Amino acid sequence: MFANPEIGIDLGTANILVYTKQKGIVLNEPSVVAIDLETKNVVAVGAEAKEMVGKTPQNIVPIRPLKDGVIADYDVTAQLLKEILKKVSKVMGSSLRKPTIVVCTPSGSTSVERRAIHNAVKSYGAKNVHLIEEPIAAAIGADLPVDEPVANVIVDIGGGTSEVGIISFGGVVSCRSVRIGGDSMDEEIVQYIRKQYNILIGERTAEQIKMEIGFALIEHDELTMDVRGRDMVTGLPKTIQISSKEVQVALKESLEQILETIRMTLEDCPPELSGDIVDHGVILTGGGALLKGMQQWLASEISVPVHLAPNPLESVAIGTGRALQMITKLQKAAK
Ligand code: ADP
Ligand code: MG
Repeated sequence: MFANPEIGIDLGTANILVYTKQKGIVLNEPSVVAIDLETKNVVAVGAEAKEMVGKTPQNIVPIRPLKDGVIADYDVTAQLLKEILKKVSKVMGSSLRKPTIVVCTPSGSTSVERRAIHNAVKSYGAKNVHLIEEPIAAAIGADLPVDEPVANVIVDIGGGTSEVGIISFGGVVSCRSVRIGGDSMDEEIVQYIRKQYNILIGERTAEQIKMEIGFALIEHDELTMDVRGRDMVTGLPKTIQISSKEVQVALKESLEQILETIRMTLEDCPPELSGDIVDHGVILTGGGALLKGMQQWLASEISVPVHLAPNPLESVAIGTGRALQMITKLQKAAK
C-alpha cells in the first residue's frame, strides 16, 4: 500500500495517461466512454470503449467527452476520471488512499471547466488536487529547463486541439490553441474519400490511413494502402486503393491551420525572447508530431529549428508527474 501516493494525469482529448512516481506510466487509454442510453450506465472505458466506435448496437454509444478540448459533458468526464482512477488503483496493487493528484488540462479550458475537473478528482478522495497548464507539462516532459529565464516554444498536436505555447521562467508567456489536430485530419480523410470515390469509411479507418500513409506537405516516395468502406451508390462493401499523395491533399487544410497558429504565436513573442527561439527552436510533441514528415515540413516553413520530443505521446504525462515532484518540493520548502 502506498501512503499518500502522487499521481499525474494527462487528460488529453484523445488519450488519458496516468503517471506515478513509483511506477512511471501506469495507464494509457483512449479518452472514450461507452454508455448504455437506456440504463445510463457506463459499459466500458478506454481501449475497450474505443473498440466499440462505429460497431455497437444503437443503445450503446461511445462518447469522447473531451473531444474538442472543452468538456462537452461534465457527468461523463467525471465518470471517465472515476473509472480511470479505479483502474489505476488496480494497477498499483492497492486501493489509492488520499493521493495527491496533478491534472494537466487542455489550455483552452475555462475556469468553470477547470473547477469541474478539480471537483471530479477531489470527489474520488484525493487529498490535494493541482491543475497545471498543458504547455508547461509538455515542456517539463520534454526535458526542457523550464525554470530558467530562457524561452522555449512547445507545439503540441493532439487529437482535438493543437496548442502552441512560449514558456519562460516556469510560466506561459504566450499561448494559442486551435481546435484542429489529429481528429480533423481523420475527418478530412473521410470527406476526401467520400467525395472522390463515393465511398464511406469510418473514423477508425481514417485514423489508420493517416498513421500508415499520411505525410505532412513534403516530397516523398508514394505509398499506397487498400481501404475498405461502403459504396454509397450500391450500398455494398468495396475495397479501393488510396495513395499517400491523395492523403496529403486531404490533410492540407488541417496542416496549414496548425502552421498558421505556430506563425501567429511566434509573432506574439516578446522581442527579448526572440533570440532564444532562433537558437533553441521549437519542440514538437503530441501524437500529431508523429505524422511522417511533420518535423521536416515545419522546419522548412518556419525559419527556426524544429525538434521532436523524445516521447511525443507520453511527454505531457511524464511532465505532469514531474511537475508534482516540483510542487511537493516547493511545499516542503515552504513549511
Ligand atoms: P491528446 O493529448 O489530445 O489526447 P495525443 O497527443 O494523445 O492527443 O495524440 C492523439 C492524436 O495523435 C490522434 O489524433 C492520433 O490519431 C494521432 N497520432 C498518433 N500516432 C500517430 C502517427 N503515427 N501519425 C499520425 N498521427 C498520429
Ligand atoms: Mg495532449
